[in-house]
Amino acid sequence: MQTFDFSGLDSLFLQLKSQGYEVVAPTVRDTAIVYDAVNTSSDLPVGWTDEQDAGRYRLKKRDDQAVFGYNVGPHSWKKYLLPPRMKLWEAQRDKKGFTMSDATPPPRKLALIGVRSCELHAMAIQDTVFIEGACVDPFYKAQRENLFIVAVQCGQAAKTCFCVSMNTGPKADFGYDLALTEVIDDTVHYFVAEAGSDAGAQVLSGLESKPSTETEKTVAEAIVARTVSKMGRTLDTQGIKSLLYENLEHPRWDDVAARCLTCGNCTAVCPTCFCTTVEEVTDLTGDHSEHWRSWDSCFTMDFSFIHGEGSVRSSNKSRYRQWMTHKFATWHDQFGSSGCVGCGRCITWCPPGIDITEEVKAIRENPV
Ligand code: SF4
Ligand code: SF4
Repeated sequence: MQTFDFSGLDSLFLQLKSQGYEVVAPTVRDTAIVYDAVNTSSDLPVGWTDEQDAGRYRLKKRDDQAVFGYNVGPHSWKKYLLPPRMKLWEAQRDKKGFTMSDATPPPRKLALIGVRSCELHAMAIQDTVFIEGACVDPFYKAQRENLFIVAVQCGQAAKTCFCVSMNTGPKADFGYDLALTEVIDDTVHYFVAEAGSDAGAQVLSGLESKPSTETEKTVAEAIVARTVSKMGRTLDTQGIKSLLYENLEHPRWDDVAARCLTCGNCTAVCPTCFCTTVEEVTDLTGDHSEHWRSWDSCFTMDFSFIHGEGSVRSSNKSRYRQWMTHKFATWHDQFGSSGCVGCGRCITWCPPGIDITEEVKAIRENPV
């Protein structure tokens, strides 16, 4: 492990850029912390934190200059691997018929800064879907192979976090090139860095740093241990798959359906949700056609539309139930893991504040 100070962040960015990486990181925009391209450490949310609860998100000034003193916001890294909207191919009419060409964009070399443990688990889940299954998504695979990941160990938990219940955090222990723990108090401000790959070790060796002392390592570990004890929410996952399968007609589904707006916010912010739709766009002459893929949601009527049948999930109840049982039950059958990493985004960004942990709890406490 190596220790460097605040100025080491800019050295890290410079070094990554010199290797051809575009640096993307948390930054403040539109009163939220989102992920976007940054140039220097001053573009990071230095001195900011967030307050989150069901249906509530607020930015607030911290009383220190912490760089990573907040939790996950409305964006997730999936927007780089599975872009919200992407042209896949296009066709042009010519004298012989038509010519088709691949329009998938080339992957970018991206350095992701500040990836949390739950987000590494979410990427691993999407890897199962897009790389490890029968159908490989070529763009996802190529983009995944062009990432340099700098993880950050969480120094705090939001009221909506429940990664401990899902065994997905808060300590990042796989899937990164570098992992940083930020240590800050009235007298010190430094980062304890650990390499998780050869590429990470090479970058770390190029930074002005010194071997971490035993005290610095102990302090860094204590920060993550403190975060474990501060989880905002818990979820009892014991037997959750059969619990949901056995309660498909529980009255709680009607209760939550009365509150759910079917807006799809939960699926948009969720780092594991992966459903998409495709559309054909032609020009006015009909000579040129494009095939676009964009995020979809199981909360829309069109999502379950079957020709000749219409939408097979026409009620709010059936759509919410589909979403939640997929996360905690059918995902296990389909991919061998939970579809939820406990990041809490769907709780924070749900306009009426529907809390997935509360919905499971209500069914568990009073099963039919
Ligand atoms: S659960 Fe909340 S965020 Fe999801 S569709 Fe319903 S109202 Fe929207
Ligand atoms: S279901 Fe909610 S808590 Fe779970 S990974 Fe998705 S957004 Fe995060």
